[in-house]
Amino acid sequence: MEDAALQRILDQIADAAFATADKGRVADYIPDLAGVAPDQFAIAVARPGHPTLTAGRASHRFSIQSVSKVFTLALALGTLGDRLWNRVGREPSGQAFDSMILLEQEQGRPRNPFINAGAIVTTDAVLEGSEPREALAAILRFVQAAANDDDIHINESVARSEIATGHRNFALAHYLRSHDNLRHPPDLTLGVYFHQCAIEMTCAQLAHAGLFLTACEGAPRLVSPGRVRRINALMMTCGHYDGSGDYAYRVGLPGKSGVGGGILTIAPGVASIAVWAPGLNRYGNSKLGTEAMQRLTDLTGWSVFGAP
Ligand code: GLU
Repeated sequence: MEDAALQRILDQIADAAFATADKGRVADYIPDLAGVAPDQFAIAVARPGHPTLTAGRASHRFSIQSVSKVFTLALALGTLGDRLWNRVGREPSGQAFDSMILLEQEQGRPRNPFINAGAIVTTDAVLEGSEPREALAAILRFVQAAANDDDIHINESVARSEIATGHRNFALAHYLRSHDNLRHPPDLTLGVYFHQCAIEMTCAQLAHAGLFLTACEGAPRLVSPGRVRRINALMMTCGHYDGSGDYAYRVGLPGKSGVGGGILTIAPGVASIAVWAPGLNRYGNSKLGTEAMQRLTDLTGWSVFGAP
């Protein structure tokens, strides 16, 4: 699609988002995120060989939260390979992001790497053989390399806010440890996990950082093509918690959301798209972001399932 036509679509999507009355509810269980104004929206599309197209507040930094789980997974697969799957499953959970129910039923083996329990195990795997500081630096470096931009940082105040209030994540980590599926003390692994969630990026940076998952010609190659395909499969089936089926139905593309209101979506072979709108729907995924992505695939035909 030509740049001018796509820009018109993005402008139309941003106008519709700003005009929508119900903007969803900002996540308030992380005190530092509770004060973010819900009437904000941004979208960015990155394609190799094209300028990055944006609409709305695309250079405003937001907390990527669980979108970081995609990068940590890619890094963990690179270092540990398929051994990671001995500790984490690959099935949708049908439960909330921080649910404990299935973890108990399945003896401490989280359903997938995108729910909190699975992401905590993945971070624990990245920690193997290194100090927390080094592991965190490796995660941040991976994100910066993917985005080809060193101006990406961690918001310490958001990380501290989660360390002080993340009781459910501590419960999950201790439960994992009781099943010997956490190799480090919970506060150590969670220190890294909370900091990776507190990475801040703009929509334009996030769209760039997703390019390696498009497998487009000219996109950075950070993991093997086989892994790109499988990470996309997990994003499609598990990237939106118990709203994953709904996102696949409405948007038809692999995506990963975070409670900061960001969503990274991959149109394989075509583009990497980031949206941000801090108000969430009942599944804990960006409400306006999901609606915007639905509009985008309706108007571009980019869904992997075919025509609008
Ligand atoms: N840092 C958040 C948590 O662990 C991430 C959740 C999310 O973005 O869905 O609760």
